[in-house]
Amino acid sequence: MTHPVHTSASSDSDARRPLAPDTSRLDDRSARAWTESMAVRSLGAGRYAVESQSGATYMVNLSRSDCTCPDHEIRGERCKHLRRVAIEVTEGRVPPPGKKRADCAGCGRESFVPENGPELCGDCWLERGDLATDKETGDTVVVYRLTEELAHERYIEAADSTVADYPKNEGYPSDDPVVEVVYPFSDDADANLDERPRYAFPYSRLAVRDQMLIE
Ligand SMILES: [Zn+2]
Ligand SMILES: [Zn+2]
Repeated sequence: MTHPVHTSASSDSDARRPLAPDTSRLDDRSARAWTESMAVRSLGAGRYAVESQSGATYMVNLSRSDCTCPDHEIRGERCKHLRRVAIEVTEGRVPPPGKKRADCAGCGRESFVPENGPELCGDCWLERGDLATDKETGDTVVVYRLTEELAHERYIEAADSTVADYPKNEGYPSDDPVVEVVYPFSDDADANLDERPRYAFPYSRLAVRDQMLIE
């Protein structure tokens, strides 16, 4: 008489799942979206070029749920190209609308970063209220906002120089995103962030801490 053998893997069976859906249960268009050979390329502004298995290339606008193929344009169906782009976005293979692939200006890893805005990944993104240490002075500063400008683009009137050319910033990349910060513990302790003078820093001059200022 044999007994069932319990391996350690069987106790993890709840965590096991197939990567692709069971295509026999999908409607035809969804199954084709998963199984056909297609190449998806992001063109920006929510648009994607899809080279289909037949060799034809169609333009998908994901934000508008639009595709240039006959199935969509003539029959008005949510075609396999639209579905394929949605799958590839969900799987992280192509950037979602509003994002592009680039090396993060903070950590250097290839990531999806905003199309228009600081080229920072989700891990390096800064929020208003994040506490940071100024690497040059050791001062504690509070992030007011991340800007869309780069250090060599932002002019500091009081210093008659750009953020990049400002003496203490010369060791940091001139294409760093500019971060506006305030000094939270100086002068009037009751003043809120909006009332305090703001200073423009290159991103890498700040050592961001795992703490936030509670306003
Ligand atoms: Zn289509
Ligand atoms: Zn990063």
